[in-house]
Amino acid sequence: MPQTPDFPLAILGTGFAGLGLAIRLKQQGEQDFVVLERSTDVGGTWRDNTYPGCQCDIPSHLYSFSFAPNPDWSRLFPTQPELWKYLRGCADRYGVRPHIRFGHEVRAADWDEAHGFWRVTTSQGEITARVLVSGQGGLSEPQLPNIPGIESFEGAMFHSARWDHDHDLEGKKVAVIGTGASSIQFIPKIQPEVGSLTLFQRTPPWIMPHPDRPVKRWEKRLFRRFPVTQKLFRAGIYSFFESRVFPFTKKPDLMKAGEKIALRHMAKAIPDDPALRAKLTPGYRMGCKRILMSETYYQALAQPNADVVTEAITEIGPDHVVTADGARHEVDTIILGTGFYVADMPFTEWVRGRDGKSMAEVFDGSPQAYLGTTVAGFPNLFLLTGPNTGLGHNSIVYILESQFNYVLDALRQMRARRIGVLEVKPEPQRKFNEEVQKAMKDTVWTTGGCASWYIDRNGLNTTLWPGWTWDFRRRTRRFDPAPYVLSPAPVGEPERERVAA
Ligand code: NAP
Repeated sequence: MPQTPDFPLAILGTGFAGLGLAIRLKQQGEQDFVVLERSTDVGGTWRDNTYPGCQCDIPSHLYSFSFAPNPDWSRLFPTQPELWKYLRGCADRYGVRPHIRFGHEVRAADWDEAHGFWRVTTSQGEITARVLVSGQGGLSEPQLPNIPGIESFEGAMFHSARWDHDHDLEGKKVAVIGTGASSIQFIPKIQPEVGSLTLFQRTPPWIMPHPDRPVKRWEKRLFRRFPVTQKLFRAGIYSFFESRVFPFTKKPDLMKAGEKIALRHMAKAIPDDPALRAKLTPGYRMGCKRILMSETYYQALAQPNADVVTEAITEIGPDHVVTADGARHEVDTIILGTGFYVADMPFTEWVRGRDGKSMAEVFDGSPQAYLGTTVAGFPNLFLLTGPNTGLGHNSIVYILESQFNYVLDALRQMRARRIGVLEVKPEPQRKFNEEVQKAMKDTVWTTGGCASWYIDRNGLNTTLWPGWTWDFRRRTRRFDPAPYVLSPAPVGEPERERVAA
């Protein structure tokens, strides 16, 4: 008798990815799946990032599930507390919570070739599942900088994604390392309360005006009464963002128009300090790194208690930071806005495929998947927001919903055709990635003259989708089995073990 897995399907994580797929399954009436979550609540990045000022830079009505609309967003751009509330509400509204095993940190996932299922080792024991879907996003593991002496620091030190709310910043001498999307949001919030703020900047970001505002009462009423108006609003925002794909991927020179707006924005905020403006002026094409938006960042840095240091950090001591010019900056708190492990995602270390190799070994620094979703050598595994599915110009939720369609259709076909194991063939995967890298050549991420976390250690952009998002939607609308090796389900396996679809 074949051994029966505990579950037809296991989903890892309850961020937008894992939770969204679970909701789609529930909407289809599926009951037989499990969701593993290391924390005690749902929400992923929007649960973990609680730093002051944390807000999404994609509008609320687009950065939410199309199949779980919320007419009551309070602002055009959602803040972290409201996004987290939305996700928790979705988990309740669609009855997903009974499927979630909280406090289950996944430590390993090994493909069991003999039985044709995954053995998932969690902090609370093993579970087996025919199909595994990873909802581990690229922005879940904080990256700590490898600066000599950092471990000798005796003050408080924390990463923006693990904010220490018990640490009172009032009057403190605070160092901030990093000037990415997270730092530019929390710096204006903490600057008024700290004694001094020393910002260690390696590369200045391009910063545009922020069009955020509260959603008006009549707008909410309209969305609630006539849901089609919310759909149209969403479609309008999507189309506006999608129109930016051309300058990003084909004609980066068009970004010069945006650069002019950003420089004017900075000049208006810092009218009488040309030296500070010079430090904050980027030397690369706009879009090469994520374009940021703020109405308060520049103003905060222009205050008397703020200082921007552009010399590289060479060492950290018990109560100070030393820079390349030999200067010693006394600090009692260090906040790391240094980003996340993206290309070298830790979960790839513990997923082992058909030949026992870890995904990290197979990727060898350059993650590659077919349609950003399936990987040769890793049967019955789907990656949500896998390689080359990130976006520089639109909402990741749109990509995720495309992947949900693909995964759900694959599961449906597995059941209908009694397929036990499916695995993408190496050749279609290679061809797909060749196409992606060819499209990457003219993009601003390749030609823009910056170093960014989009680029992996082999010099390839294995993070972003270099084209129209509707093209990704079209390619993932259905699961085409042609590029896959399909094996039948074990004979005698009862119907329950067919994968939910
Ligand atoms: P990030 O964009 O990766 O920025 C990290 C910053 O730390 C960069 O300025 C980087 O400098 C600097 N850095 C890293 N290591 C350093 C070192 N050893 N010494 C000095 N500086 C160092 O990280 P993030 O700000 O946390 O944002 C990550 C991503 O999260 C964003 O791009 C975005 O996709 C997402 N995010 C989104 C929102 C939103 O509004 N939706 C908000 C926050 C975050 P270099 O630039 O020189 O590398």
